[in-house]
Amino acid sequence: MNTTPPAKPPQTHAQRALAKLGLLRDIDFCLHLPLRYEDETHMTALRDARHGETVQIEAMVTSCEIQFKGKRQLVVIVVDGDGVEECTLRFFNFYPSHQRTMAVGEQLRIRGEIKKSLLGWSMLHPSFKPAGGELSQVLTAVYPTSAGLPQGYIRKAVWGGLLRAAQRGELAPTAVIAHLPSLADSLELLHHPTPDVSVTELEDKSHPAWQRLKAEELLAQQLSQLQARRERAKMQAHGLSQSDRGVVFELLKVLPFKLTTAQTRVQREIATDLALAKPMNRLLQGDVGSGKTVVAALAAAQCIEAGFQCALMVPTEILAQQHFAKLVGWLEPLLTARGLCVAWLSGTQKAKERREMLAKIESGEAALVVGTHAIIQSKVTFAKLALVVVDEQHRFGVAQRLALIQKTTPLSSDEDIAPTAQGQSNINPHLLMMSATPIPRTLAMSYYADLDVSTIDELPPGRTPIVTKIVAMTKRDEVVRRIVDQLKAGRQVYWVCPLIEESEAVDLVNATETHAALQAALTVALPSAKVELLHSKISTPEKKSIMQAFEKNEVQVLVSTTVIEVGVDVPNATLMVIEHAERFGLAQLHQLRGRVGRGLWPSACVLLYATNESGRLGDAAKARLKAMVDTTDGFEIARRDLDIRGPGEFLGARQSGAQMLRFADLSQPQDQDWLKWAQATAPVLLDTKLDMALRHVERWLPSGASFMGA
Ligand code: ADP
Ligand code: MG
Repeated sequence: MNTTPPAKPPQTHAQRALAKLGLLRDIDFCLHLPLRYEDETHMTALRDARHGETVQIEAMVTSCEIQFKGKRQLVVIVVDGDGVEECTLRFFNFYPSHQRTMAVGEQLRIRGEIKKSLLGWSMLHPSFKPAGGELSQVLTAVYPTSAGLPQGYIRKAVWGGLLRAAQRGELAPTAVIAHLPSLADSLELLHHPTPDVSVTELEDKSHPAWQRLKAEELLAQQLSQLQARRERAKMQAHGLSQSDRGVVFELLKVLPFKLTTAQTRVQREIATDLALAKPMNRLLQGDVGSGKTVVAALAAAQCIEAGFQCALMVPTEILAQQHFAKLVGWLEPLLTARGLCVAWLSGTQKAKERREMLAKIESGEAALVVGTHAIIQSKVTFAKLALVVVDEQHRFGVAQRLALIQKTTPLSSDEDIAPTAQGQSNINPHLLMMSATPIPRTLAMSYYADLDVSTIDELPPGRTPIVTKIVAMTKRDEVVRRIVDQLKAGRQVYWVCPLIEESEAVDLVNATETHAALQAALTVALPSAKVELLHSKISTPEKKSIMQAFEKNEVQVLVSTTVIEVGVDVPNATLMVIEHAERFGLAQLHQLRGRVGRGLWPSACVLLYATNESGRLGDAAKARLKAMVDTTDGFEIARRDLDIRGPGEFLGARQSGAQMLRFADLSQPQDQDWLKWAQATAPVLLDTKLDMALRHVERWLPSGASFMGA
């Protein structure tokens, strides 16, 4: 078997358009499968037609005229065979050529969806050509295409690719699967199905030929991840050994609470990984409020105890400051005693402060560095980075995570580390990614096979369940009354306004108006209450001071755009109002709701929604709001989110550019079985037939791409 020769760079306009669709190599064309099929293999007589069916008929034109029934239209009447049955063809867009081809007396071959009403048969915008000519022997494939690439062109290109690949033996099997046709036969069948093949089985992808493709695709995915995992196993990291009475021990002593069983378990999992001289690649998932920060702090403590630096990267400045405050509170006394400190980095920091921080990071005095993606800038040099923690990891792209990993510095030469082929040390930092958006199990198995997962599956004690209510925007007044009740009881309230990406100015107006309206309403009901507004245009120091005032209960109502989305922790806040909740994604709604229910009091989340002009709420929006009311379990939310959005959006693959599964659909039980098969087959294949395994991956992955994972 030969490998696919490298693709030539696209030349013509059409080739460029094909390349845009990812169609470069012959194998790419082979795997460009039809969207649907048209059955042009037989003719239907009108008297045998069924309502709603797509049919092909041959009939004679008996009338052709332009009519004005509400709208200008071309109405053509045809009769078939014995002249008993009539069908009316209707065209709203038409040219003089239509009238010429469909002149009275002409015989036509017509194809389209046929409808039956009291007025008889009709078709809207059918395709037509002069009658006669041979009937197709196979179902006609209709391919996904783009503007400027006619169906006929792409069909020819695909078939050409299929022929060349087959002739060169490129479709030789990787694995034999009982009861399934070979890859070559499967492709032949999917591109040129004979009329006896069930179109339904082709279109719902249950046909054995489709099963073969899904199985092979999943095998490629698992092979590529297993390979990545084995590559990583060869890399080295600083083993972070722990002593009995070091920083970890002291940190546990100063914490104001006892770790939950789940926290203790995941902390041990992480500690065990960190002690090894190979890089950890672990996802820590736990619902909003489950206490991931302290687990990260303990990992950092272990790293610092071993004499190395830890970087903690967070997606927003507010969160960076919060983490900073908390971690400093916990860790700084312990670090100061050792002559170390905590540094922080952000994009908006003053130049002087920044220089000081950079110097401390470079000298190694800053044992812990907290910051936004300012951390991955090239000017930041770590003296001895050994652990990277990424909070809310789904908010970062794969590229950003990689940039941070590459900041690790090699061990000094006397520590005898094997250099790689390039002569560099292959030391990598341990990586801990944290997320409150759990990845559903099937997705994790499939896309993150290269990742270990720790799960915090319990909340700290004393949390009260949050009640979620959906309320129409028209009933805002009731919500304001609820706010007053909470404030009178001494509690605090969040009010979140949506961010419409196209226009920050409009958002600001909305948020400002909401703020003013609440202020006015509360002045009457509760004059002592203070309402503050937080949004992206407010300067960082001011944001910080507003947040601090809210934390100290000097401000009781915080109106905000989604800047508070992640991580903010004010246990006295018990009511979360989300305005235009229908515009938010499910994960975001769940995150926002997680800002309340953190203290001893019963908490509530009000989802205010507005309908569109026709008084309706879209299906997806409805499904999201319903999910929020039905459950507060982050895993269940994630599962529903996957149903609503599909894996591509879910995993943020669109931003990262990573390759998604094209054919396998992991929500299907049968495909889950193929995933298990692929997981069992991949290691055997890599061990026994490495060449074939690599070829298989290459077949499925355009050069350079990879299936997810960092
Ligand atoms: P998340 O997992 O969403 O990042 P945090 O780490 O912000 O959650 O923790 C939420 C709150 O719970 C914080 O106030 C934190 O101090 C507190 N917390 C964490 N662990 C415990 C525990 N074991 N017992 C009591 N409170 C805890
Ligand atoms: Mg958090």
